[in-house]
Amino acid sequence: MQNNIDIAKKIACPTCQTMTIWSEKNTYRPFCCERCKLIDLGEWASESYAIAQKHSEEDEIFSSMMQTDPSINSQ
Ligand SMILES: [Zn+2]
Repeated sequence: MQNNIDIAKKIACPTCQTMTIWSEKNTYRPFCCERCKLIDLGEWASESYAIAQKHSEEDEIFSSMMQTDPSINSQ
């Protein structure tokens, strides 16, 4: 017979995949530690920042085209 009295629910940390015990003492769950929680939040923030960067880059290309166009037609 197996003794399952002391069994703890284990989860894999979404950031580093470390097996960590899911308990009320673990305030960073489902992460294994505060660092992994911050990394996950940071990745989310940098992802939306990258989208914003890409958008402004396209805007820059578009506005440079608009600047080039009148100079061609001016003569
Ligand atoms: Zn972790």
